Parts: sequence; structure tokens; C-alpha cells
Amino acid sequence: RGINKYSTAAALEDPINPPVNVNYTQLLIGGQFVDAASGKTFQTLDPRTGDVIANVAEGDAEDVNRAVATARKAFDEGPWPRMTAYERQRVLLRFADLIEQHNDELAALETWDNGKPYEQAAKIEVPMLARLMRYYAGWADKIHGLTVPADGPYHVQTLHEPIGVAGQIIPWNFPLLMFGWKVGPALACGNTIVMKTAEQTPLSALLASKLLHEAGLPSGVLNVVSGFGPTAGAAIANHMDVDKLAFTGSTATGKVVLQLASKSNLKPVTLELGGKSPFIVCEDADVDKAVELAHFALFFNQGQCCCAGSRTFVHERVYDEFVEKAKARALNRSVGDPFKGGIEQGPQIDTDQFDKILNYINSGIESGATLETGGERFGNKGYYIKPTVFSNVKDDMLIAKDEIFGPVQTILKYKDLDEVIRRANSTHYGLAAGVFTHNIDTANTLTRALRVGTVWVNCFDTFDAAIPFGGYKMSGHGREKGIYSLNNYLQVKAVVTPLNNPAWL
Ligand code: NAD
Repeated sequence: RGINKYSTAAALEDPINPPVNVNYTQLLIGGQFVDAASGKTFQTLDPRTGDVIANVAEGDAEDVNRAVATARKAFDEGPWPRMTAYERQRVLLRFADLIEQHNDELAALETWDNGKPYEQAAKIEVPMLARLMRYYAGWADKIHGLTVPADGPYHVQTLHEPIGVAGQIIPWNFPLLMFGWKVGPALACGNTIVMKTAEQTPLSALLASKLLHEAGLPSGVLNVVSGFGPTAGAAIANHMDVDKLAFTGSTATGKVVLQLASKSNLKPVTLELGGKSPFIVCEDADVDKAVELAHFALFFNQGQCCCAGSRTFVHERVYDEFVEKAKARALNRSVGDPFKGGIEQGPQIDTDQFDKILNYINSGIESGATLETGGERFGNKGYYIKPTVFSNVKDDMLIAKDEIFGPVQTILKYKDLDEVIRRANSTHYGLAAGVFTHNIDTANTLTRALRVGTVWVNCFDTFDAAIPFGGYKMSGHGREKGIYSLNNYLQVKAVVTPLNNPAWL
């Protein structure tokens, strides 16, 4: 039990050279890579070392104004909303092909900038981006209105029109997938875009955007402004000429952008925010399998998932065995340079998150939870944290209430279903939940009772392009992916025409 599979700390002192060059660091406005109007740049860092990867143009309100003007013109006068849906579809399909051709380059940039295991980026996330683009390409020529019955001699139809200029603000944990979730439906519906990437991870979206232009996207349709939230992000949310805002990030920032949207032009806003998702291990569970899935649900992507199963509720009958095995599994997690094969966990994204996670770990210890394993940094360089497991966690501890966004599993004991439903729902969040049971009645009871946007039964983090994703309560507004995301990017226009020339003509 408990074979320690960490790389040696010494191996982290000598990081593997990333197999990719950084070719795009400027803002993308009107189909051209350009410097920020201010001439300013910011550093994007390698989470393995804290070293500078590149200096990236730092967009602010003035650049956002330029980008919105370009997107506005491309929407009001350009070919994108006017071309046939079939032509738009073909651009997205060519983009998917180019993503596949540049799979390893995109994955390497993603790993370098974010710290996630290269195998995860190359085998799961970049292929998923291509899949997403094909999925939305498929929708492009299937978006249409209805013929509506009228109470009189009228022909009534609805036109489903693109909403206009979409502002999109994304986080750093899945830079390429968040890019795809946002641009896929917006482009399929014929919109134009001003996107702000996360300041921690600006690189992969710039390469992807370049490929999208190679695929035939007209200039001005997608504009990417790298930069910071309170400057570039706020300028997008506040802009009078942005017709719709889609935001993914923290609940605190979600509140800010919603206010900016309502104070400016009342643009509709979709929000994908934080979570504190329960993972419920029922009394009939096969403990080994439950441990493995609960481990994946929490530790995947360094624990930096909005839907992470971050409250592991375990039935009292299997609790002790579960805790022992969860500890052994965490000890067995391979942590190391994300470019190395077989690595499950790389560094956290940056020094802020690293400190925040270690503070939460301290708060767990101070509040009386049992630290089973981990609890400290790994190595002396970069932002690696040992996989951490707490048992004897109580609902009122900070580690059970706040989103830690790191590799920290908190295990809570429960007695019966009514109790665990009440406790699982007793949070302001409502993003996702996991349920582990063989019993169909238990599964049905839990899936109906949990107030969350996704319930995974005996699986977790299953993200198909067609499966909608989003939150109840303070985890957000609206749904992304699937057919549900199309409505975020469409307006419905009713057109009423008399069947015969009316008497007043
Ligand atoms: P964050 O809210 O600070 O940043 C997200 C994005 O918003 C970044 O691009 C940032 O620059 C921008 N931003 C920050 N302040 C802004 C402002 N005042 N105006 C406009 N834009 C602003 O979040 P973070 O800490 O970088 O990311 C982690 C959080 O994101 C976690 O809480 C996580 O749960 C959440 N998240 C949610 C989902 C989801 O799908 N629900 C996905 C990924 C991350």
C-alpha cells in the first residue's frame, strides 16, 4: 500500500524543453496580429518554474474598442452572417481538420502555459476541441425558425437570427476547450466575436484563432484581446456595442460582469461559474471502484475544474475502508513535469492559486480535519502541490464550503440518503454531482433530488459536445454545449404577413 509515485523533487529542477515555439503573442484584431495601442505587454509564465515563456501584448479598453468596432462592422456589413450556413459549416469543418493537423503543437502550448499533463492535452482536450467544432459545424445548417399558427388570415414565421457581436471572457483551466465552447456555437449561428482569454494562459487560443483564419474565417469575425480582467474584460462587459456576453470564471467576477452588462446596454449574459460539487458514495458501492472514480473526480486537471467532485460524501458503512484506500490512491498519484509520459498531475497554474490552496490546507488542519496525506508543496520550484486528502471533514469547515480549486480531497461521512441529499444541496453552488451506486432506486432518487446542472451516475467528467453544461443557483445562468447553447447566440424575430392584401392597402 502507498507506493509513492512522485517524480523525485530533483527531476523538477530540470524541466523538459517544450517541443513547440511560441509564434503568436499579439492581439488579433481584424484578422491581423497587432500590438496593444498602449504598446504594453505582460509576461505569461511556465507553471513548472515560474520562468517567463513570452511577453504578450496587453490589451485594454482602447484595444477592446478597436476590436468591437471591427466585430461590429464584420457583423453589420461583412460576409459571415450573410453567407450560406453551408459555407459557414465548411469553415468550421476545415478548422477541425487543422486542429487535428496541429494537435501536438496546440497540446504543447497548452501544457507549457497551463501546466496540465501533455498526454491529457494531446489525447483528450485537443481532440475534443476538433470534435466540438464538427459538432457545431453540424448545427450551422440546421438552425431555422418555425411556421407559427395565427389567429387570423396571416402567415407567421419566426426567423432565428444571429444576436450580433458576442463578448466572450474565458478562464485558464481549460484554455482551448473554453475557447471552443464559446466560439463553436457563436460562429455556427453567424455571430462575430470579441474574446478575452485568461491572463495566465493567452497562448493556445492565439494559435487556434490563426488556424481558424487559415480555415477561411473572414477577417474581423473573431477578435482576440489578451489582457487582464478589470481592464480588457470589464471593457467588453461594459461595452454598448457588444450584444451578448458569455463569461466563464469565478462567481465573484460573474457578479461584476453581470452588473457591468446591466449598467451598460442590458446585454444578455450567460455565466459558467464556480462549484463545490458533491460526489456521493453509496453504501452498496464497490469501494475500490468508488475510490478510483472519486479520486479522478477531484484530482483531474490538478483539481482545477469548476465541476470537481470536491465534497466526497461516503456512507458510514464503507467510510473507513474508503478513507484508507483514498489515501493510498493519492499517495500513488504520479506528480511531475507535465511533459513527461505517465504523469497524472503537473503544477498548479500560478503563485496566487498555489498560495490560496496551501492556505486552505492550513485552514483544514486548524479546523480539526484529519490530514491523511499531502498537505505541502512538492519540490522547490514551480507550483507543484502533493495530492492531499482530508478525512473527518465537517460541513461547516471552510474546506467543505469554499471552492479550493486544487488537489485537495475532503471526505465527509453520512448515514442515510435523506441526510446526504440535504447536506449535498446545502451550498450556494449547484454545478454538478457524482453518484456512485449499483442501486437504480438510489440513483433515481439522487438524480432527481440534487439541485445541480449535471449529475454523473457511476461516471464523472463525461463531456460530450452534445451534453449541456451549466449551473443551478450561484454556479451560473444558462447552458453551454449541445443544442442548448445555440439559443444563447440567436435572436427570434416574428414575421407576420397577411395571406391576402388587407383591406387598408
Ligand atoms: P476569474 O473570475 O478571476 O477569471 C476568469 C476570467 O474573467 C479571466 O479571463 C479574467 O481575466 C476575467 N476577469 C477577471 N476580473 C474581471 C472583471 N472585473 N471584469 C471582466 N472580466 C474579468 O476566475 P479565475 O480565478 O481565473 O478562474 C477560476 C474560477 O473559474 C473558479 O472559481 C472556477 O470554478 C471558475 N470556472 C468555472 C467554469 C465553469 O464552466 N463553470 C470553468 C472554469 C472555471
